[in-house]
Amino acid sequence: MNEHWACLVEKLERSGLVRGYPFQPLGYSYFLRANTPKPRLGNAFQVGDALGLATRDMGEGIGAAIHSGLLAADALIHHQAYKVNTIPRYSWPSRLDLRRSVG
Ligand SMILES: Cc1cc2nc3c(=O)[nH]c(=O)nc-3n(C[C@H](O)[C@H](O)[C@H](O)COP(=O)(O)OP(=O)(O)OC[C@H]3O[C@@H](n4cnc5c(N)ncnc54)[C@H](O)[C@@H]3O)c2cc1C
Repeated sequence: MNEHWACLVEKLERSGLVRGYPFQPLGYSYFLRANTPKPRLGNAFQVGDALGLATRDMGEGIGAAIHSGLLAADALIHHQAYKVNTIPRYSWPSRLDLRRSVG
């Protein structure tokens, strides 16, 4: 990530859009989609970032957070299994030539 940041700053400098500005970048980490997320631990249902559902290519986790919340609610209300394998792992599977939801 530092490498990407350094490239961006260098590009801004080179293009003359921003020169000599003392950027102070901050970071925030969250997990991207794991291969085998464990959505339920006993009576605890994990959703969204807590489960690491953000897409592997774009890091988008808002849709997955909502989707997993709805699935968890459904599982609770209807006493069903709680699975997240219908939630897409990639934002742009077609561009990456990948299947949309796996695991
Ligand atoms: C800079 C940045 C840009 C992003 N851009 C995008 C984007 O464009 N599109 C996209 O889809 N995703 C994006 N994401 C990812 C997306 O924000 C997250 O994946 C998504 O918000 C996860 O939702 P969540 O409800 O699981 O967690 P959160 O949105 O983090 O919500 C968790 C909430 O729980 C609260 N909380 C934590 N601990 C406690 C506690 N002990 N008691 C009570 N409350 C607590 C927190 O304050 C927070 O409000 C971005 C993330 C970052 C950091």
